[in-house]
Amino acid sequence: MADRRVQISVFDDVAVLTIFNPPVNAGSVAVRRQLLEAVQTYSNRPDIIALVLIGAGNTFIAGSDLKEFGQPLEDPQLPELIAAIEQSSKPVIAALHGAALGGGFELALGCDARIAAPECMVGLPEVTLGMIPGAGGTQRLPRLIGIPKAIELICAGTRVPAAQAFVLGAIDALTSDDLLMDAIAYARHARKRRVAEMKVADSDPDSVDAAKRVALSKGRNRPAVADAIEAVLNAQRLPFAEALHLERAVFQRLRESREAAALRYQFFAERSAGKLQALEGVEARTVETVGVIGAGTMGSAIAAAFLDAGMRVTLVEQTAAKLSAGYALLSDLYERQVKSGRLDPAARDARLASVKATLHYEDLASCQLIVEAVFEELQVKLDILHKLASVAGPQTIIATNTSYLDVDVIAAAHTYPENVCGLHFFSPANVMKLLEIVDAERTSPTTLATALAVAKRLKKVPIVARNAFGFIGNRIYSAYRRQAEFLMEEGASPYDIDSAMEAFGFAMGPFAVADLSGLDIAWRMRKAQAAQRNPEARYVAIPDVLCERGHLGRKTGAGYYRYAEGKREPDPLVLDLITEYRADNRVVPKQFTTEHIQRRLLLAIVNEAALVMAEGVATSEVDIDLAFVNGYGFARWQGGPVFWAKGQDPAQLREEWAALGVVSGPGVPLGDLSVLGI
Ligand code: NAD
Repeated sequence: MADRRVQISVFDDVAVLTIFNPPVNAGSVAVRRQLLEAVQTYSNRPDIIALVLIGAGNTFIAGSDLKEFGQPLEDPQLPELIAAIEQSSKPVIAALHGAALGGGFELALGCDARIAAPECMVGLPEVTLGMIPGAGGTQRLPRLIGIPKAIELICAGTRVPAAQAFVLGAIDALTSDDLLMDAIAYARHARKRRVAEMKVADSDPDSVDAAKRVALSKGRNRPAVADAIEAVLNAQRLPFAEALHLERAVFQRLRESREAAALRYQFFAERSAGKLQALEGVEARTVETVGVIGAGTMGSAIAAAFLDAGMRVTLVEQTAAKLSAGYALLSDLYERQVKSGRLDPAARDARLASVKATLHYEDLASCQLIVEAVFEELQVKLDILHKLASVAGPQTIIATNTSYLDVDVIAAAHTYPENVCGLHFFSPANVMKLLEIVDAERTSPTTLATALAVAKRLKKVPIVARNAFGFIGNRIYSAYRRQAEFLMEEGASPYDIDSAMEAFGFAMGPFAVADLSGLDIAWRMRKAQAAQRNPEARYVAIPDVLCERGHLGRKTGAGYYRYAEGKREPDPLVLDLITEYRADNRVVPKQFTTEHIQRRLLLAIVNEAALVMAEGVATSEVDIDLAFVNGYGFARWQGGPVFWAKGQDPAQLREEWAALGVVSGPGVPLGDLSVLGI
């Protein structure tokens, strides 16, 4: 039967219920209904002494069907199924392999025992999706592993290997052999052991407090952390049934929240990122050895990104001194990871052993991909491309990490321009998820497919951009930054603007970001473009004045902020300078509310997004949301700028957007918002 989602086989006296819902056995309504029927039927059969639940293929229930979460849930819901398992007089054993996450793990926790393949991943990631577990996870897990550990794992949504979960007490037995046969043997000797009836172990209040503190401080992108902590604490404070009821009510409220919808949207956006229909059937080239030219800030971290993915790296610099400095950047990066316990020394040694640091371009001959990350100067990049002619054959992919330069011009300097694309990493390149892939005029489908395969291997979130100034991300970000400067000129202080955007959910406001990147980079660019600038365009010279006075950002101890012992604080000198500038330009400062600042800057982003889409630089508005969340510190739980805009009252949005055009002047054309579906 096509909709048969649970297959039943009887092994003498044990009924095995196999969940079959490819590809990941998601816990859909059909799965729940059929499991419920089977549990009730086989529990009542006198010839059956126990039941085993297992997943078909290579996983248990890897999670609930997230698509269902956007609508009213259909019955039977998961708590009802779990209640039936608990009410059954027969022991029900969960046999886990692959992944048992979210509702899948809650189902397992509702069983009388859990037996698992050691590498199976278990966990409750609901908090990462703006919810809390809603089928007893916050009540049963603390009964097995204690309150502090449950707070830690639930609030971070950690996926734990079963071998570790066994040590913690969440798994009863591990199997290294035949999971099904082991589970059947285990079931024959099992008794009813309802987790719900267990007592929650007393825990040391200090460790509970510590777990709460860590969870709250790391929960920036997880709006439900505080609710999750309360739910777990209820396990100790309230009778099981009451706490379970409360958990469900909170889950239902959060499931319907805007934040959860935004996080689900991002989840699906990430899953479909980089899947281009046009590339169907196009084979990617193998990439195992990578050359990185330029071992500065970007090159050293790009090398780490490849090493972390298990590839070999040849690192090229222009002088011996630069080479050893670049290698030191790379080894220091790993040293810090070892010191903080994120990497073990053996892994560091293995990674560094996979690097060849050299001054000779001939050493790049064996590389399947070469990424250049040298200075942002066209001539320097063109010289590199010429030099590569002798070492990069027709099969070698060449990528430029340029932020703004013309990739078509760079590609034209190579014998095989079809092999050239942009791989625009974000800093720090080994950490930031976004990877902007520039599909230049002559980039071949094979090159693009290879770049996308590389992104996947590096566990990056890829977006594909056409070649254009600033591509997608930097182009839109500069419109945001320019609008922030307009607001500063009109009366808002950079500190008010930053705190407004941080309150909205940005990791950092635009001026704090500018300080971090260095104000001189944008300054240099403004000077280079001065001749082409529309003389009618509105231009705020405050950043130029700051640079002229040596305020180049964090690296000089002063930018928009001043930095004393690494601490960022408002700088009265900067405020004076702005006041003076306004007076010189006869600007009467206005007062702005936090909401005005937020909405105006978000609209500036959305407007530029519409232009970028209309010009074909981006092909989907979803890519713009992916870019902002994964590369520019936009709060994930806000979904992204376009997602945000779609949730606003359209009439108000259009009114504010028209006003944005008026204050911004002729330098900021208004796009057509309908291309974004607004
Ligand atoms: P950087 O100055 O820190 O490093 C550049 C390195 O390239 C230097 O170590 C230099 O010695 C080396 N180099 C220069 N010419 C060379 C040559 N002919 N052969 C070998 N090595 C050479 O600069 P960076 O910040 O790492 O930026 C590098 C590139 O990455 C630029 O194109 C930049 O626009 C881009 N980028 C930078 C960032 C960022 O946040 N810094 C982000 C994205 C992209």
